[in-house]
Amino acid sequence: MPDLRFSGIGMTSARTRDRLVQRLREQGITSLAVLDRIRNVPRHIFVDEALGSRAYEDTALPIGFGQTISQPYIVARMTEALLQGGPLQKVLEVGTGCGYQTAVLAPLVERVYTIERIEPLLDRAKERLKELGVRNVRFRHGDGSAGWKTQAPFDGILVAAAPLIVPEALLKQLQVGGRLLVPVGPEGEQELVRFTRREQRIDRESLGPVAFVPLLGGTG
Ligand code: SAH
Repeated sequence: MPDLRFSGIGMTSARTRDRLVQRLREQGITSLAVLDRIRNVPRHIFVDEALGSRAYEDTALPIGFGQTISQPYIVARMTEALLQGGPLQKVLEVGTGCGYQTAVLAPLVERVYTIERIEPLLDRAKERLKELGVRNVRFRHGDGSAGWKTQAPFDGILVAAAPLIVPEALLKQLQVGGRLLVPVGPEGEQELVRFTRREQRIDRESLGPVAFVPLLGGTG
């Protein structure tokens, strides 16, 4: 008997999730590994029960503390863009939020190090990932714009909130060949950027306009 809380019924059922996956395919997501995670991670358990019926809409939803769970398309796009260029061992995630992006990403890489500045969000994310059996994640309460020095370098860094300028520490903690995915800019004018560290330089590619909550300093 499958656990109905995770497998879902009605608006959280496999059929509803398949429709979301189809939509993401139409929008250009091609990685089967990523689409498979979107299909299998029960997004409805990451939001308030009252919002569960909207969990498979391609939209951001409130998770409390003025924050939102990322839109599935964005989670898929960022994960796909991070994975392009080869398998990843150590990935730093800044802005755990409810842990949804972490749940999508973690089984596709060796280990995720995730930092969140709002402690109650981090605690809830921890619990949910444990429930889902996602074990290759280390959590930290703090300001992710300083990165995670003792674990650096990383071959992937994913930032789920937008700084005005890319924090220098994050670029520094990137290994040669490593990728940093980060939304940059003020509200209404953000673009998703992928930085790739090379031996002698850092490449910068724009992946298009996006809308994220701001990356804030300090802890909440
Ligand atoms: N991917 C997350 C998105 C959460 S929204 C999800 O799927 O739920 C972005 C998160 O970044 C928020 O929870 C916010 O508190 C956090 N955040 C903002 N600035 C931060 C910082 N400097 N360090 C760590 N987390 C930060």
